[in-house]
Amino acid sequence: MPLSSGHTNAVATLTVRVADRRHSPVDLATIRTITIAGTCPRCGGPRGEPYPYNFYDDGAWLVADCWDNPCGHVDLYNAVLAEAERGPRT
Ligand SMILES: [Zn+2]
Repeated sequence: MPLSSGHTNAVATLTVRVADRRHSPVDLATIRTITIAGTCPRCGGPRGEPYPYNFYDDGAWLVADCWDNPCGHVDLYNAVLAEAERGPRT
């Protein structure tokens, strides 16, 4: 089954690394690789191109991905983690 046609501006999905702090009582980040829709959940416009973001977290350098949506809506990590756990939108 093809993942996408490859001929549209919006990609079907994005695979990104995000920092998950939801389950740490001391706010430490766990990097998770998740797959999310390629479009903004609020307006349906395309999400921005992910780029790596290095940050220092309690003694270790970690890398996550950031992206800037052209529509201006901001995707918070907790929101995209929840989106990935809900599964693909239909
Ligand atoms: Zn949007």
